[in-house]
Amino acid sequence: MMTSAKPITIIGGGLAGLTLGIGLRQRDVPVTIHEAGHYPRHRVCGEFISGRGQESLTRLGLDRLLESAGAIPARTAAFFTATRSTLPRPLPELAICLSRFSLDAALAAEFQRRSGKLISGQRWRGETIGEGIICAAGRRAQSESRSERWFGLKIHVRNVPLAADLEMHVSPRGYVGLCRISGGEVNVCGIFRRRAGENLSGQDARDLLRGQPGSPLRQRLAEAEFSEDSFCAVAGISLRPQRAVGRAEICVGDAVTMIPPVTGNGMSMAFESAELAVAPLSAWSRGENSWSEARRKIARDCDAAFARRLAWASWLQRGMLSPSLQASLVALASRSDWFWRLAFERTR
Ligand SMILES: Cc1cc2nc3c(=O)[nH]c(=O)nc-3n(C[C@H](O)[C@H](O)[C@H](O)COP(=O)(O)OP(=O)(O)OC[C@H]3O[C@@H](n4cnc5c(N)ncnc54)[C@H](O)[C@@H]3O)c2cc1C
Repeated sequence: MMTSAKPITIIGGGLAGLTLGIGLRQRDVPVTIHEAGHYPRHRVCGEFISGRGQESLTRLGLDRLLESAGAIPARTAAFFTATRSTLPRPLPELAICLSRFSLDAALAAEFQRRSGKLISGQRWRGETIGEGIICAAGRRAQSESRSERWFGLKIHVRNVPLAADLEMHVSPRGYVGLCRISGGEVNVCGIFRRRAGENLSGQDARDLLRGQPGSPLRQRLAEAEFSEDSFCAVAGISLRPQRAVGRAEICVGDAVTMIPPVTGNGMSMAFESAELAVAPLSAWSRGENSWSEARRKIARDCDAAFARRLAWASWLQRGMLSPSLQASLVALASRSDWFWRLAFERTR
């Protein structure tokens, strides 16, 4: 006798939740996604996609969707300090740049096209995340008690010539990444140290993204036209890696752990973790395994896939955010092909 597939609820319709939802719908699992926000919307993100997640998307048949959403190939990167510029270096692997405004909306439309139920504009307020419910609610905020906290800012701009497909500009306060996205726009996204008691105005935030007077970043953005409706900010970013094993609930994406943004690998991890969860959750839906078996398998597979890159990313991020180390790291990345490849490959 055929038993009907058990339904799955996903909390969070970001990249991980939507990709998992699509993967489960491809296997005829009934899925409802609860998303607090609406589509399309701007997100704080470098919009630079690099790493194995691109293969996950291909296996899930979503690579064409990215193309039609406006993905642009990225082949080179260049680094800048306040006083020094490096020549563009080839990326060891092809990456893509794509606006989150288009990407999240394209995935949401694909999920609905596959008859997934999407409830947007409402926070999920259930008390426990138990059997049948997945946490894809994004990064966990860092505790208020930590003296140094990180915040992220992003804005789209026009009329900005780039020396490489990805430009990274470091400053004592943090760093800013620039990459070309579709429609002639450039995404400008930065992560910065928040000083104790500091309250930034909107103008201060835009000034941080513009860079210090006289810096290569300030020169790069001298003629930029800022697209004000794309400006967004997030605070309380945690840069400490977490493990999935030991969590009581099944998590995907940043809800498992956030990889330091310097790697440009967070979106990839969202796609990869979603793909890792599809088979165990489909088996649970068909009654072929228990919820705790599915949870253990997904957590073990995520930890195995991510542990090494999280460790490397953690020290690289610390170096890039440390005023005393960032110039040496930039010099090393520009002079040593061996170091550049190693740092790139080990963080994805
Ligand atoms: C400054 C910065 C720069 C970055 N740059 C890059 C980059 O260049 N490349 C890269 O690959 N990654 C980058 N990342 C990381 C990347 O943005 C994340 O890894 C990625 O968005 C994770 O996807 P996700 O689906 O797990 O989480 P999210 O995209 O955050 O989605 C989670 C969703 O859950 C929803 N939600 C939360 N709680 C609830 C609730 N209770 N009910 C309903 N919905 C809920 C939220 O509204 C959100 O839409 C960057 C991150 C930061 C902070």
